[in-house]
Amino acid sequence: TLRAGIVGLPNVGKSTLFNAITQAGAEAANYPFCTIDPNVGIVRVPDERLQVLAGMVHPGRIVPAAVEFVDIAGLVKGASQGEGLGNKFLSHIREVDAIVHVVRCFEDNNVIHVEGGIDPGRDIEIINLELILADLESVEKRGDRVAKMLKAGDKRAKVELNLLDRLKEAFDQGKAARTLSYDPEEKEILRSFPLLTLKPVLYAANMSETDLAAAEENPYVLKVREVAAGEGAGVVVICAQIEAEIAELDEEEKALFLRDLGLQEPGLDRLIRTAFHLLGLMTFFTAGPMEVKAWTIGLGTKAPQAAGTIHTDFERGFIRAEVVSYEDFVRCGGLNGAKDKGLVRLEGKEYVMNDGDIVHFRFNV
Ligand code: GDP
Repeated sequence: TLRAGIVGLPNVGKSTLFNAITQAGAEAANYPFCTIDPNVGIVRVPDERLQVLAGMVHPGRIVPAAVEFVDIAGLVKGASQGEGLGNKFLSHIREVDAIVHVVRCFEDNNVIHVEGGIDPGRDIEIINLELILADLESVEKRGDRVAKMLKAGDKRAKVELNLLDRLKEAFDQGKAARTLSYDPEEKEILRSFPLLTLKPVLYAANMSETDLAAAEENPYVLKVREVAAGEGAGVVVICAQIEAEIAELDEEEKALFLRDLGLQEPGLDRLIRTAFHLLGLMTFFTAGPMEVKAWTIGLGTKAPQAAGTIHTDFERGFIRAEVVSYEDFVRCGGLNGAKDKGLVRLEGKEYVMNDGDIVHFRFNV
């Protein structure tokens, strides 16, 4: 399951967004997860195809893919210097796959801004600087060790020292590790010491309800987009307060409420979709009388590894996969129809999965 951490300065709307998330998650029926931790909220990944498939297969249950959100409140100026609390927040960030960085773009005189006024560029910089300082420390520590390895004649140490120097230079300029490019050998090295600023970031520009309609002309949002474009990050415009209200409604009320606001879908759904896209993830399905289920894999995943997300035995004993595209499945009225038309393929170990593939794996135990 994809794990995303929510960060941002105090009073920007993190808890409001997080509450909307946990509320929405609590209402997703048929959910095989239970509440784990007050700081973790699980939401389904919205996917209309699940309903279509369920309408054809009539399964016992529908299981959507999920995203876990972790509330990482307390990341403030000076966190990287903090011995106790600050470091704890940073270590929570180490454990997530992606960062959702909430940025205050709403004006409200009743809600104090910890840094004075609304200034998304400055706010983003404050948080990013903490992450960069934490990474700088990791890189310096690592550098000392690698220098010793180099003396001992380790060949790879030279490559690594170069990489560390390059990273240090970027950090000194206030740049995140994700703004650099890496060759395969460097990528391999980076796998062994996960940097905070290497994680993909999605900026959530938190707007006031009244500004939402003209979001793309809003100077605060434009600033967030500008920063994001410069570092290859994504942006989602949301109104955390509206999300919190939406999360309280049942399906029928929700549809009415969204229509009144002129919105297609909850911002939360857009947030999840964008996170999926940003992380290069996609979905395949299994569909049978027991359940119709969505599974999350990375773009370019091959069939055996996809099978492995279901069960490690499936990967180990992989023989082949029976695959039909979602479109063919629907067009032919189901698996048998698709088989009659010769549209169900038998694929081997080298098959690269496509988004929407409906799969039945054959394996040895
Ligand atoms: P956190 O410290 O980042 O977790 O921020 P909170 O979620 O606690 O929000 C701080 C305050 O801002 C609360 O009083 C919220 O009601 C308010 N707030 C959050 N989002 C919005 C918004 O979109 N518009 C307005 N006007 N207020 C908001």
